[in-house]
Amino acid sequence: MKKVISVIAPMYNEESLVREYCETTFRALEVLQEKYQIEIILVNDGSKDQTWNYMLKLQENYPFNISTVSLSRNFGLEGAVYAGLQVSKGDLTVVMDADLQDPPHVIINMVEQYEKGADIVLAKRKKRSNDNYFKRTSAKWYYILLDELSGKIRLERDVANFRLLSREALNKLLNLPEVNPVFRVTVPFLGMKTAVVEYERDKRFAGETKYNLKSMIRYALDSVTGISIEPLRKLMILGFGSGLICVLFLILTIISKDAWKTSFFISLVISMFFCVMFFALALVGEYIGQILLEVKRRPTSIIYEYNPRKEPRKESIDEIC
Ligand code: UDP
Ligand code: MG
Repeated sequence: MKKVISVIAPMYNEESLVREYCETTFRALEVLQEKYQIEIILVNDGSKDQTWNYMLKLQENYPFNISTVSLSRNFGLEGAVYAGLQVSKGDLTVVMDADLQDPPHVIINMVEQYEKGADIVLAKRKKRSNDNYFKRTSAKWYYILLDELSGKIRLERDVANFRLLSREALNKLLNLPEVNPVFRVTVPFLGMKTAVVEYERDKRFAGETKYNLKSMIRYALDSVTGISIEPLRKLMILGFGSGLICVLFLILTIISKDAWKTSFFISLVISMFFCVMFFALALVGEYIGQILLEVKRRPTSIIYEYNPRKEPRKESIDEIC
């Protein structure tokens, strides 16, 4: 029996690229078909356009290769990815963006690394010349921050959701007890034998990004609180450092003879104190929010409809003989 590669493609309002995504992916992975069966798991994350209808139509065309999953509403990328992971029956599972920014041909290099023994293969973005300046800069700082805060977890920068997991790695991932996971944080937590392949990120094929500034900040906060409690520890250093600066300003205030300087230093100390306090409170609040979500134990997403691909026909006579 051939091993199965399940490729998970989460989609939210992507009617303009469902067909193109599937056809490009099948074409790119043709060379693997001698050794593997390719399955694409299309996950509809509560789209309001024709995405789901198009997925079902495509499944009619490729019944042996496409599974379709529809969530009960829009849960966000993590919910869609985890729904795909839950239904994946593949010996290898690949998660990627469906807008073709993650080029499907990279999966061939990822499978090569798997064959060399890797349990997890990360696709690392070499260049992001197709992203605008804001996206490039914010992503750069996001990865630096996450890396700094990751503690003992080894994090590869510039790696998003484009990853391959062996069956063993996927089982371990799905056994983690958290209900509000962030895929790019839970995978490095696993450790295991990890390989990296590099690629150039393409332009979005059609449609628009689903991430505005607000959702990007929310995602960054989920990642930061999800990775470790290191930020809380760093908060102690911040508190100590700002305490020292306050003492310094206080001394300057005492030795200063000018009244205007005195009032300037005092107001500076007070504003600094409030900034640090509010920042600390907000961070602690984020962690409490995460605890609440975990305590409620609501699932990451709810699958409303799942149509597995048809079982492939028996191996051809040629292959049996
Ligand atoms: N996506 C999703 N649910 C959402 C938002 C996005 O399933 O709530 C999917 C989207 O359809 C795409 C992938 O996640 O396949 C990445 O989204 P996008 O291209 O908007 O992100 P960007 O590349 O701009 O970071
Ligand atoms: Mg994109």
